Amino acid sequence: MSKAYKKETLCVQAGWQPENGQPRVLPIIQSTTYKYSTSEQMGRLFDLEENGYFYTRLQNPTNDYVAQKICELEGGVAAMLTSSGQAATYYAIFNICEAGDHVVMSSTVYGGSFNLITCTMKKMGIDCTVVDPDWSEEELNKAFRENTKCVFAETIANPALVVLDIEKFARIAHAHQVPLIVDNTFATPINCNPFKWGADIVTHSTTKYMDGHAMCVGGAIVDSGNFDWDAHAEKFPGLTTPDESYHGVTYTKKFGKAAYITKATVQLMRDLGSIQSPQNAFLLNVGLETLPLRMERHCENALAVATFLQNHEKVAWVNYPGLEGNKYHELAKKYMPNGTCGVISFGLKGGRSAAEKMMDHLELAAIVTHVADARTCVLHPASHTHRQMTDEQLVEAGVAPDLIRFSVGIEHKDDIIADLEQALQFV
Ligand code: PLP
Repeated sequence: MSKAYKKETLCVQAGWQPENGQPRVLPIIQSTTYKYSTSEQMGRLFDLEENGYFYTRLQNPTNDYVAQKICELEGGVAAMLTSSGQAATYYAIFNICEAGDHVVMSSTVYGGSFNLITCTMKKMGIDCTVVDPDWSEEELNKAFRENTKCVFAETIANPALVVLDIEKFARIAHAHQVPLIVDNTFATPINCNPFKWGADIVTHSTTKYMDGHAMCVGGAIVDSGNFDWDAHAEKFPGLTTPDESYHGVTYTKKFGKAAYITKATVQLMRDLGSIQSPQNAFLLNVGLETLPLRMERHCENALAVATFLQNHEKVAWVNYPGLEGNKYHELAKKYMPNGTCGVISFGLKGGRSAAEKMMDHLELAAIVTHVADARTCVLHPASHTHRQMTDEQLVEAGVAPDLIRFSVGIEHKDDIIADLEQALQFV
């Protein structure tokens, strides 16, 4: 938007800007194609000589308005939507890495990202070194190689709830002339803007708090525009040398600060096609309108639930960065002064079997794979989302075998606590 509005205003009003007589609400442009009157103009669009829509697999106006809103919330220069958070992670990395390259990744990232990067991308010839986010800069330095192309981490790790020292990671990435890519799904742009602290690219699973109602799988990538690809041109030939698959265009020359997102759109989206459906983008936009209200309530409720659990005799440990005394509380206060997220984790004195019994007796909180939505939900990662990992990998990822991931919703906190209280009686 032209004025520097606050995030609450951007959530409602950024993106679609209706002109006189146009619909107030973002329209769903449910069309795969766009009509032009001359074949010469269509040719110019294909040559990227002219701005315009030509096929929804590359770009769609509904999607672009929503991406614009997310871009403004993050304080970036360009953004795109993807069909899922997984696609966002994949595209964000693959846009600057190819076979023979190397990625440095935090050990505590979401299990799906861990699998994507250490298994699937490895099969594509992209190697990865897994690092402990709490390592010193000296230790982290050792993970870098000549062919390292980026660093990937999460602002608040799912489900380990490790808060990333973004400045430390940005410093180390930049010292090795590579960008820091941060998955900001759990904090959301309401609670943290990683660009302010030196991150270069942000990814989101919009499936989580942004949608907020467990309706649509989706993702987003936002570029800060701050990383100077040309200054390290030999490391990023995909951006700084002609793309033969696109009529010899050199993205940094032609698109400047929009180079990274333009390449991901016209090359990766064209070839791999993980577009978000305009219907889902419309619903995501509705979710975004209430994001600040929901995040405030998620954080307030999560703190109340974490405090209740901490004082319960059957609870062995509680992990919530919003709790005073938590290992990451100081980092959380620095990077997320208004709150972290609604997800907490805890373990019971009775261990894994007690966890399963307790979960089976919850009435309000449902056992679902999903996390970070309006309804309270619960999961046992070692048995569910992270079950592909070895015990060693689970420990590295900060996922204890008894860890219960409890995603506190926006119901009344008294009801959520009462539900936990009655379920704990069965343990
Ligand atoms: N990043 C984080 C932090 C996640 O929690 C998830 C999913 O749980 C993803 C990425 C992947 O997103 P999606 O499920 O939308 O593909």
